[in-house]
Amino acid sequence: MKGIKRPWLPVLVLIWGVLTCAASAAAAPAATTTVNGVRVWGGPDSTRVVMDLSGRADYKLFQLDKPDRIVLDFDNSTFAKGVGDATGKGVVKDVRVGHYQGKARVVLDLDGPAHPKSFLLNPAGQYGYRLIVDLGTPSGAPPRIVRTIDDDVAHDKPRPVVIAVDPGHGGDDPGARGRDNTLEKTVTLEIAKDLAKLIDAQPGMQAVLTRDGDYFVPLNKRFQIARSHKADLFVSIHANSCPDYCDARGASVWVLSTHGKQSEAGRWLANSENASDLIGGVSLDDKNHMLASVLLDLSQGASMHAAHEVGGDVLNALGKIGPLYRDSVQGANFVVLRSPDVPSILVETAFISNLSDEKRLDNPRDRERLAQAILAGVKQYFQTTPPPGTWFAAQRDQRLHLPSSASLIAKVDTSGRGQNGVLPAVASAPSGGTGDAIQDMHKVARGETLSGIAQQYGVSLNSLRQVNASKIQSGGAIQAGAVLLIPNS
Ligand SMILES: [Zn+2]
Repeated sequence: MKGIKRPWLPVLVLIWGVLTCAASAAAAPAATTTVNGVRVWGGPDSTRVVMDLSGRADYKLFQLDKPDRIVLDFDNSTFAKGVGDATGKGVVKDVRVGHYQGKARVVLDLDGPAHPKSFLLNPAGQYGYRLIVDLGTPSGAPPRIVRTIDDDVAHDKPRPVVIAVDPGHGGDDPGARGRDNTLEKTVTLEIAKDLAKLIDAQPGMQAVLTRDGDYFVPLNKRFQIARSHKADLFVSIHANSCPDYCDARGASVWVLSTHGKQSEAGRWLANSENASDLIGGVSLDDKNHMLASVLLDLSQGASMHAAHEVGGDVLNALGKIGPLYRDSVQGANFVVLRSPDVPSILVETAFISNLSDEKRLDNPRDRERLAQAILAGVKQYFQTTPPPGTWFAAQRDQRLHLPSSASLIAKVDTSGRGQNGVLPAVASAPSGGTGDAIQDMHKVARGETLSGIAQQYGVSLNSLRQVNASKIQSGGAIQAGAVLLIPNS
């Protein structure tokens, strides 16, 4: 951060001089709030400026152009001595501070026009009050969701499975901190980058990172990124910690559980991971959260079933390279896993609060081994239960000498695990329908509903009912284990 310069410098110095004199002579109101620091984080969609404050402060934000800049005036405020050395990032070229008419003024020099959004955050974690200014480019339409059947089977060329890799925390939110001061946000980014690289090197697999640098992404934005890329799987990478440097160590894998039994460890962990949004700060007009919770109930059954399966495979693989904290997949209420239509898991790679685990997380070789284990689990899952239309599905068809036309073949559905790709006798055409009107079969898992299954495959509830009339009980319920035919539309 530099001292004040350019157009208004002489005026300001003059005013400041006058004010300083006035203050000593006539007791101007004493500054009540101190701006303790200014930090700038540059992300791909927006740039975030965080101002650390000693308390609540009234402020005014206004925008000037030629050149583009944002000005913030804090009432009754002053700057702490040597307020940081904030350098510009993202759209912010430079940060200047000074006093102007009794106010503490921060000027953000911009690369071009930007849309500022500001909000005050209450103390959380290691931080006190913060004023956040997000400078974004105008946001486009909300991401379109839901993979369509067209995407899955109508293309001749099998598509890759898409895996969204989510490095936990970032930017203003450091996550947990080890005894040797290793930061969770740093190791999660490294492991996630390793994992993405490994995924992209695989045939039939493609990775999408929810962040690729040190900046904060709100939790609900993370799963929206996965959905907008039509991800087949969302993997959030974290490092666990426990209070007072307890002795716990090892890896664990978590899936969403919004109700039912949760362990004490699960509750504690979900609270600390969900606190990210308090620390990193979610702006108040992030209303997409609502949409997500409405969608939540619609099709989560199937996604959660798949998450359990893939979580088990990943846990297995992690158990081969190091200690496990829990040897079965655990459930907890994580905001970041609340995608209704993308199976989502959260991997706590190790305990950063445990010294020997922290050493592993700090070591690039060990981090890569963790990434390799996660890849092995994920791959194992897609080999056993390939989504229709993917490269993995084509490989399986080839293995089993099936014709590649997906539309006519009754396939073992995604929940047919344990049968390891062994197909049942090809189903006969459904009563009242033709063979080519069927694009898949689905084995009903416990808790699944007809409407949820219809949503999962993007077909209408009516046509699903029609082709499966004989399997639907009088009350409209379907039995777990029943195999349903999935119509084409
Ligand atoms: Zn975390």
